[in-house]
Amino acid sequence: MITVMKFGGTSVGSPEALKRVANIIVKHESQKKVVVASAMSGITNFLVSTSEMTNAKEKKAAIDTFNDKHINTAKKLFTGKILDEFMKEYDERFDKFKSIILDGNKKDPYYKDNVSSQGERFSTLILSYVLKSMGVDSVAMTSEDCGICAEGKPLNGCAVLDKTETLMAVKLKPLVDAGTVPVITGFYGMMDDDKPLTFGRGGSDYSAAVIANGLNADMLEIWTDVDGFMSADPRMIPEAVRIDEMSYDEAAELAYFGAKVLHPRTIEPVRMKHIPLKVKNSFKPEDPGTLIHHLGRHTNELLKSVAVKTDLCIITISSAEIAYRPKMVARIIEKMSENDVIIYSMSTSLSTVAFLIHNNDVKQTMMKLNTIDAADIERIEVKNDVALICAVGDNLLTTCGVSGDIFSAVKEARANVEMISEGASDVSLNFVVPMSKVTDVIKILHKKFVSDKQ
Ligand code: ADP
Ligand code: ASP
Ligand code: MG
Repeated sequence: MITVMKFGGTSVGSPEALKRVANIIVKHESQKKVVVASAMSGITNFLVSTSEMTNAKEKKAAIDTFNDKHINTAKKLFTGKILDEFMKEYDERFDKFKSIILDGNKKDPYYKDNVSSQGERFSTLILSYVLKSMGVDSVAMTSEDCGICAEGKPLNGCAVLDKTETLMAVKLKPLVDAGTVPVITGFYGMMDDDKPLTFGRGGSDYSAAVIANGLNADMLEIWTDVDGFMSADPRMIPEAVRIDEMSYDEAAELAYFGAKVLHPRTIEPVRMKHIPLKVKNSFKPEDPGTLIHHLGRHTNELLKSVAVKTDLCIITISSAEIAYRPKMVARIIEKMSENDVIIYSMSTSLSTVAFLIHNNDVKQTMMKLNTIDAADIERIEVKNDVALICAVGDNLLTTCGVSGDIFSAVKEARANVEMISEGASDVSLNFVVPMSKVTDVIKILHKKFVSDKQ
């Protein structure tokens, strides 16, 4: 049995946390274990700001801060021969890191990928040596060492799964079969030209799913700082409860629409190989967590969980009888796709078509839309600062009157529903409200449909 275990930033964020995680790995009953880790908490943000520095003095100070953080952590965890061996590997990685920060080519579109992915190289090295100090046969491996291939735009890559699987069969599988515990960098893969490409913020979950896919693992475990997949973000709703079991679809929809506990792309690589996924709390390892798998059985709850995607905007394009001119709609979508803009929702009427996109994509989308012949478009309106609420539940779409109850909860929060998407997915009901109302709406929904039903 192969288990891939991924530990997030907080779980590897301090010497104590690293020790706790190492104990979880050692005690785990799986015969073959593969570990994936994020950078220590705060480090990726720190690297993102370092990548924007131009002043050499500032950069040197950043290099020192980065060095101190990792060396101090390592020295609290192991000493003597293990520390000496660690320092050899550390120095090699650190020299490369230094030269990227001081001499890297800022004009390279993938420069930020290179800088921001550096933290994982050091957290994994430390974790691997903690395991060695506990007598485990472990090796720290980078994404390039084990063959994780990536493609795509800067800061938004995705893995090339078939190529990754082929390379892993040679570079990683034999080690795992021999009982070694590899500790692998999350967050990025390598492009054809051997440059690192990150999978978007929070991308280590996806890395772990890609590794589980490539190794045909039996289980993927995402170890984080909350009890599992919860009925809402516990930072927004402290009363949120843990969900025992979810289907791949439910988890995928919620992750895509903002449930930060899983990177939006995590589910697909494991779903396609029927690999079950557990979300567990590294601070309470004995707790059961949430199991995500092919769940055929239905539960009684109407609402299982809610997620929120904030900072969105509605673009409404008016054009006479656009409903009768599908080619015009196709042209608009084609223009938007030229910038790879993600459309979170879409709706049409006789003379309008409306798209829900991220606030950051508005400027470039407007530029593209303005290239369409003015005679074809009467008006373009932009409504900023809206949020999409994704409500997931087994019986949400099939139980008569539930949407009415949901929208009456929205009314209680005195919020206007700006857009609705129901039926596009089997498991979710999505609707858009102004950003200023989103917390109130979620609180009322959660109280009515989750807390009051407990
Ligand atoms: P990690 O560093 O382990 O990857 P993240 O911070 O990326 O952890 O994700 C865990 C966080 O996701 C939690 O602390 C929680 O605030 C947030 N979160 C948002 N929605 C949910 C949800 N439905 N269930 C659990 N956590 C959620
Ligand atoms: N360290 C990366 C980030 O902070 C990846 C991750 O944590 O999953 O976004
Ligand atoms: Mg995360």
